[in-house]
Amino acid sequence: PMFDYTIKPQILSKKVILVTGAGAGIGRQAALTYAELGATVILLGKTVAKLESVYDEIVAKGYAEPAIVPLDLKGATKQNYTDMASTIASQFGKLDGALLNASMLGELTPFHQIHQQIWQDVMQVNVNAQFLLAQALLPVMLKADNASLVFTSSGVGNKGKAYWGPYSVSKFATEGMMQVIADEYDNSPLRANAINPGATNTTMRASAYPAEDKTTLATPEEIMPLYVYLMSDDSKEVNGQRINAQ
Ligand code: NDP
Repeated sequence: PMFDYTIKPQILSKKVILVTGAGAGIGRQAALTYAELGATVILLGKTVAKLESVYDEIVAKGYAEPAIVPLDLKGATKQNYTDMASTIASQFGKLDGALLNASMLGELTPFHQIHQQIWQDVMQVNVNAQFLLAQALLPVMLKADNASLVFTSSGVGNKGKAYWGPYSVSKFATEGMMQVIADEYDNSPLRANAINPGATNTTMRASAYPAEDKTTLATPEEIMPLYVYLMSDDSKEVNGQRINAQ
């Protein structure tokens, strides 16, 4: 069963929402869903062709024209993020929502065999980039009437699991960052929460569990109720929570 929320048409109209990792998997679906519900979406991701395909699909359906931000979170600098935030501020005046969804799995391996480079890459993309993104976006998010910052955790984000080394540790850090921000902005119009998507049929899931029967998995579309709820004003009072999409 999915998170219990009935999606209402146009619930996100007039909202500007950034989605990271918008070219594939859950992020792609979230961008399409937010656009369908009336939001103007900003598509951030690594592979430009994938972002363009999401852009084309949104425009073809007649939804609000999205913006594209090609950025590799592995190499991006603080300057890249602050530039992006000022572009959002000048183009839209505010940012109502940010779904920090992009992440990398690294490799599943016994702890004593973790490669230092992979550890660092996972921390860079899953932790350091989220920090820089959140820090750069906070000022433009505070220009919205109320704003929702949504982090993406995992089942291994609050309980460690053998062989999930850097990824699991990075998701603990993600939840920690969410809690720190949520506490700091508790009496403000900005809220921060984290989604645990649960097993979902994407490329990342397939690389973690290559042999499993994919028909047993939720599709990205099926887990959208929580993704919409947290971006809508219906969750205005929700702050500092880790919530399961399934
Ligand atoms: P996918 O691998 O299918 O998609 C990840 C997206 O993130 C891609 O669009 C990818 O872009 C982008 N991305 C990855 N690395 C970078 C980077 N360095 N810079 C910019 N963009 C990047 O993953 P999912 O959709 O499955 O996962 C989405 C989120 O959900 C992740 O945070 C994941 O940890 C989490 N999650 C997923 C679960 C699942 O079962 N699927 C379960 C628990 C958590 P590109 O395609 O261009 O590489």
